[in-house]
Amino acid sequence: MDHFLYRDGALYAEDVPISEIAASVGTPFYVYSTATLERHFKLFDEALEGMDHLVCYAMKAASNQAILKTLAALGAGMDVVSGGEYARAKAAGVPGERIVFSGVGKTRDEVRMALSGGIRQFNVESEPEMHVISEIATELGVEAPITIRVNPDVDAKTHAKIATGKSENKFGIPISRAREVYALAASLPGLKIIGIDVHIGSQLSTLEPLETAFGKVGDLIAELRAQGQTVTHADLGGGLGVPYKKGELLPSPAEYGAMVARVTQPWDVALSFEPGRVIAGNAGILLTRVIRVKRSSNTSPFVVVDAAMNDLARPAMYGAWHDIEAVEPSGSKSVSHIVRPICETGDTFAMN
Ligand SMILES: *Cc1c(COP(=O)(O)O)cnc(C)c1O
Repeated sequence: MDHFLYRDGALYAEDVPISEIAASVGTPFYVYSTATLERHFKLFDEALEGMDHLVCYAMKAASNQAILKTLAALGAGMDVVSGGEYARAKAAGVPGERIVFSGVGKTRDEVRMALSGGIRQFNVESEPEMHVISEIATELGVEAPITIRVNPDVDAKTHAKIATGKSENKFGIPISRAREVYALAASLPGLKIIGIDVHIGSQLSTLEPLETAFGKVGDLIAELRAQGQTVTHADLGGGLGVPYKKGELLPSPAEYGAMVARVTQPWDVALSFEPGRVIAGNAGILLTRVIRVKRSSNTSPFVVVDAAMNDLARPAMYGAWHDIEAVEPSGSKSVSHIVRPICETGDTFAMN
């Protein structure tokens, strides 16, 4: 549910008419609903009630300071993948111990920044990265908390560009090598290996691939402990999908939480989660104005709008669908192409 609703034939964001915002700031613009962000965060958090957990919002979903501050005030942690994102989390008031650092490309400067400013954990994606963190932590005289991000080789059954858990993807350490790498981490100076991390992809439409991946993580945790390793944390990533079309049905946070509770019940660890899209995706809308309608003899009319692929990349990048609605619908309908001003044919929102 969100707070973008029609009243007397006009679209509102909470109690504010969209047309009023357009009159004051011009178009195009994004508007996010605080009430919706809060509702989404609380629904997700409450679905995990009874489990020792921290919800770390994956900032790549939308990293505007107002959004981050809203979530930080609710006690959210953050999942960051760069020094810039780390600084944004800090600026929004998130303490270092609630920030997890993911990503395959952490630089030395970024590792240093996070170790100096405080960090819940680095989710380590490769052995060379692990050596870099060990070196820098030793140099600074601190202990870096790390998890090993495993690649469980599970098909998330989502768009190929946002699937991250197959062996051919750039992410994580093959789960078959995790025991060896975990033991290496335990032996390196400057590191405190605390657990396992997994994230198999985004916009997942069923829970089954997640459950398969989490099952593998559970087996791994048991094996690591049998080998005498200490495992106190598990990070289960993000991935829950959101509807982009009216009426699309996706697993709810409550269903997700129930599955997590069932699968992780014997683990005895502190859990982290990294939801992004499910918090922010439908908490905002992009407002765009029709510049003109261009008619053509051999195809539907082109409705040219003032937002483009630089404002919303997904349709051009993934062929993604976003529902489009009029701010003050007249009731009349026609088939059109919704296109954008940038000089690439790919810069379209929707054809026909
Ligand atoms: C993208 C990403 C997320 C967030 O994914 P959503 O599908 O938006 O929940 C979480 N963790 C990692 C490592 C990611 O790359």
